[in-house]
Amino acid sequence: MFSQRQLFFEYLGLPSLQPLGVEIASAKGVFLYGPEGKDYIDLVSGVTVSNLGHQHPEIIHAIKAQAEKHLHLMVYGDLIQSPQVRLAEKLTSLLPHNLQSVYFVTSGSEAIEGALKLAKRYAGRNEIIAFKNAYHGGTHGALSICGHEELKYAFRPLLPGIKMLDFNDTDCLDYITASTACVVVESIQAEAGIILPENDFLVKLRDRCNETRTLLILDDIQMGMGRTGKMFSFEHFGFIPDILCLAKAFGGGMPLGAFISTKDIMHTLTHNPELGHITTFGGHPVSCAAALASLEVLTSSELINATEQKANIFIDRLKNHPLIRSIRHKGLMIGIDLETREQVVKLIRFFVEHGLIADSFLFRPQSFRIAPPLIITEEEIHLACDRILDSLDLL
Ligand code: PLP
Repeated sequence: MFSQRQLFFEYLGLPSLQPLGVEIASAKGVFLYGPEGKDYIDLVSGVTVSNLGHQHPEIIHAIKAQAEKHLHLMVYGDLIQSPQVRLAEKLTSLLPHNLQSVYFVTSGSEAIEGALKLAKRYAGRNEIIAFKNAYHGGTHGALSICGHEELKYAFRPLLPGIKMLDFNDTDCLDYITASTACVVVESIQAEAGIILPENDFLVKLRDRCNETRTLLILDDIQMGMGRTGKMFSFEHFGFIPDILCLAKAFGGGMPLGAFISTKDIMHTLTHNPELGHITTFGGHPVSCAAALASLEVLTSSELINATEQKANIFIDRLKNHPLIRSIRHKGLMIGIDLETREQVVKLIRFFVEHGLIADSFLFRPQSFRIAPPLIITEEEIHLACDRILDSLDLL
């Protein structure tokens, strides 16, 4: 009889030769549990998915209630399904007047694909601009605008007509011209290691897009849904995108994404050709029910407002450790630099021994991420910090 571990390595296609490989049997709140009951504090939230932690009662209730009614019925966009309609109504009530038409998809990558197609189609242009060190997903279109050549080169040729600019460099904005269909940006670059915008960069980017009638697409897939201390990250930075992409925490732990724009822009997907984007599972009713429950908890609680204060407890406890070089954060999205990649790789293994699950960044190997569920309590933060400091001391 093979162990779960043996079956994992034998039968699963894996994207890395060194997966964390920790067996998890259940999860509750901010804790993941191994088969023997060992607990791990979740400092990644499934990469910013589980904002309300694991097994949140409201989400579980919504999933069960919807599963009792119906699962998948039809390809997205034909039948009127209550979970989709109610979620779109709630979501748009939280968004500005130009973000009122929601196209549901299955994932972050698909939200980016849909947004790129929509922008090209609406603008009647095909040049796309994105930023170095950005990550937007693993499908061909999303990979084409990924700002890291190492992840892309083996898959070329990718989409033509892509230009990559430096984030925070206002001198580069002149590359956006009347030929540019869209610019895709994260307001805080996540996989670059939590790089915040400086000197009103996003406002200037918005202005340049207005001048050239270029659509501005915000990838809020990792930073959205309260993680940074606002429901949507653009609310910090004084600009509004033309197309907003959501996924990850949006689904409350279920697979769901969306791209959102004006009714007028979205209308272009309906003709020349009709069915401009098609998705079988986009807006799955169970995912939408979970997403609505999650949005209701986020909007009726103080969780989002508390993110900064909670982050400060982490930072105060950790900042003076001699191995920590610097800390960047917005709300409960924290990037911590050590000196080398090797230290981070070792540390993440020590974390597992000490009962923590954490993660590094794709494009900043000397750094690790702390992004726990927003429900984490002060007591749990102190416990996590004790474990982090014990692990750092072993380096
Ligand atoms: N955009 C950002 C900023 C992301 O962090 C990710 C995933 O990590 C994606 C897009 C792609 O999302 P998904 O993995 O759901 O396709």
